[in-house]
Amino acid sequence: MISMNKWLVALAVGAALSVTACGDSEEQSAVTKAAGKQEKVVAKKGSETAEAKAENQQEIVVYSSRKEHLIKPFFEQFTKETGIPVIYITDAAAPLISRLKAEGERSPADILMTVDAGNLWQATQEGVLQPLESEVLEANIPESLQDPDNEWFGLTVRARTIVYSKERVQPDELTTYEALGDEQWQGRLCLRTSKKVYNQSLVAMLIARHGEEKAQQIVEGWVANLATDPFSNDTKVMKAIEAGACDVGIVNTYYFGRLEKDNPEIPLALFWPNQQTTGVHVNVSGAGITKHSSNVENATKLLEWLSSAEAQQMYAGLNMEYPANPEIKPVPEVEAWGSFKADDMNLSKAGELQPQAVKVMDRAGYK
Ligand code: FE
Repeated sequence: MISMNKWLVALAVGAALSVTACGDSEEQSAVTKAAGKQEKVVAKKGSETAEAKAENQQEIVVYSSRKEHLIKPFFEQFTKETGIPVIYITDAAAPLISRLKAEGERSPADILMTVDAGNLWQATQEGVLQPLESEVLEANIPESLQDPDNEWFGLTVRARTIVYSKERVQPDELTTYEALGDEQWQGRLCLRTSKKVYNQSLVAMLIARHGEEKAQQIVEGWVANLATDPFSNDTKVMKAIEAGACDVGIVNTYYFGRLEKDNPEIPLALFWPNQQTTGVHVNVSGAGITKHSSNVENATKLLEWLSSAEAQQMYAGLNMEYPANPEIKPVPEVEAWGSFKADDMNLSKAGELQPQAVKVMDRAGYK
């Protein structure tokens, strides 16, 4: 019966899926895709036999803002190994969090899976997650990539770093995020919109390191150096650099990986900034157990499995990310970008300081 009830709620609330635009994201965003998923959910439910339903009482329901192709293979593998079915619904992070809130105790969800510590922090603030005690996750995932109250754990890591034109920039001209505000880069910088949580997290970390006033000066420097209005996504930033509209930008590593995969000769390269200071800003995709999960035991098993050696390289590799488990090497294409010192400040800061980051960017005129 648990299984049935879960489904009924999932189907009922599923009618209210909303849309947000995210461009090149690895996140789910399009309503059509969410609706497609909905149909599949219905089909699957219809095909369940009574025995299957009994077996499926242990099933895990995941609300995911990661797209289907980035999660499905792992859920299938997990089910193969454990016999525990995993069902998922995809949508953008904000509507999923709203939905968990609206569903409250009736929620069928056991796990919320999303990207960026800013979103994960938002989920903790909305009270839709619960603390999770797991020795396995504690051992596999570094402290800086977990919520201090264990309401979420990072599962993959992405660096938000500097990308530059190999034709017009020498890597030794680059040093730090902060220095992208120097006069040397006037009219040469391209950025993604400040509305994207990735940039809010980056600026939040600048505030954590420098304080609000200094962080605002840094951002003002960036804005003064912009070659064009901010872009809607990271890929457009890189395309603009490739086209000669600007020379440097800030992007998540996996977007660079995708372009490089399409065109190995692409005249762009990644630069690891802040190596003498704070380190490169890294962020995560991660997950937590929902506050009203009726299946904490199996949900914990799935998260533990995703942090394991077996799943980590595959999971990170599929989106050209870095494994969150430091014992596991990234895939060769990612490893080829070289190693770097990462900022090890706890990522929950990115969430905590998000409101201030939004204000700082607004005051600095960063659109
Ligand atoms: Fe993304």
